[in-house]
Amino acid sequence: MKSSPLTSWVDVSEDSDFSIYNIPFGVFKTDTVPARCCTAIGDYVVDLVVLAEHGYFNPIPVSPLLFRRDSLNYFVSMGKDYTSLVRDRLIELFSINHHDLQDNIDLHPFVLYKRDSVTMMLPMKVGNYTDFYSSKEHATNLGAMLRDPNNALLPNWKHLPVAYHGRASSIAVSGTPVKRPQGQFKKNKDDTTPTFGPTQALDYELELAFVIGKDSNLGETVSVDNAEDYIFGFLLFNDWSARDIQSWEYVPLGPFLSKNFMSSVSPWIVTMEALAPYRTQGPVQDVQVLPYLQSKGNHNYDIELEVELKPEGGSAERISRTNFKHMYWNICQQLAHHTVNGCNVNIGDIMASGTISGPTPDSVGCLLERTRNGQEPIALKNGSTRKFLEDGDTVIMKGFAVKEGKRVGFGSVEGKVIP
Ligand code: MN
Repeated sequence: MKSSPLTSWVDVSEDSDFSIYNIPFGVFKTDTVPARCCTAIGDYVVDLVVLAEHGYFNPIPVSPLLFRRDSLNYFVSMGKDYTSLVRDRLIELFSINHHDLQDNIDLHPFVLYKRDSVTMMLPMKVGNYTDFYSSKEHATNLGAMLRDPNNALLPNWKHLPVAYHGRASSIAVSGTPVKRPQGQFKKNKDDTTPTFGPTQALDYELELAFVIGKDSNLGETVSVDNAEDYIFGFLLFNDWSARDIQSWEYVPLGPFLSKNFMSSVSPWIVTMEALAPYRTQGPVQDVQVLPYLQSKGNHNYDIELEVELKPEGGSAERISRTNFKHMYWNICQQLAHHTVNGCNVNIGDIMASGTISGPTPDSVGCLLERTRNGQEPIALKNGSTRKFLEDGDTVIMKGFAVKEGKRVGFGSVEGKVIP
């Protein structure tokens, strides 16, 4: 049976990421309202504390204290059955056929805020952050460019989801400027000693990240079949990278200062429930994986992704467009692999996908691939060119899914490069 379309009594434009089918979670504050948890609908942010204070979640037991916090960790720790009930109740409260809140909204001037009038905060306290490397197109492009075009993927790549441990302390919310990092790098390819200074090869990486919604125990393995129970939802993720620092430092232990100066996340966590209608099959894995990595069902998601670049004083233009569905390794395989040795995960941990690239040159997820390590600069509409990011550039990433007229999106993750 086809479900009838839901509409809201709040005005939601057709191209809004925050339809009634979404109901993501975030944290906001204003000059007079301290940080607290919220959802979004249309152009509005919804204060969940005030809804709880007035009993709008009844009969679900929801204390305002659950939301009067500067992170979603406590709410998420209530478990998926609970958070899903709360989200369902919010969908009900905002649907046009339901009157509890609709008929009384004038009594509550502090429930709805225009989204552009509030400050969005980092939605979770992040304890740990891991970055995977799960796009075959990305890994192939990099391997071909930096190593061997005929043997681009390393022998382990199709047997395990490659990853490194990142740094949680420098994860920042969208809007936070990214300060061009300093470090060691080789100024010229044939140099034998490094130069020190601001990176000359600042890049973005288009990624999606999932947020852990349930603790696992040290020594325990999360099975590939149960992995989704541990995942609360997704964020847009920009893993800023300094390519010159990276290529000098990464041998033999992997990225370090080229990555940990900052990563940006979108302020909204879109739940697994909201993304469920957009599930799709992943690419065929043509090498048989070990039993602990064999997953059943559809765990990829049809999410459109875009990158825009806005030079200082100029207008934003799209420089890349791809889709999350191309990812070779899915989230269940990633989490099963991450915990197969007994490493535990905690609520709020962030697991990023790795740069998401598609099969065509305009669908790659970073400038390193797009400009072939600076050899083929891209031309911008204002007449300038880019090998890598310049001071004053703003990178804007967007993500959304559409099916049968129902749109669910992330908004954006943005950051401006400053010297
Ligand atoms: Mn990355």
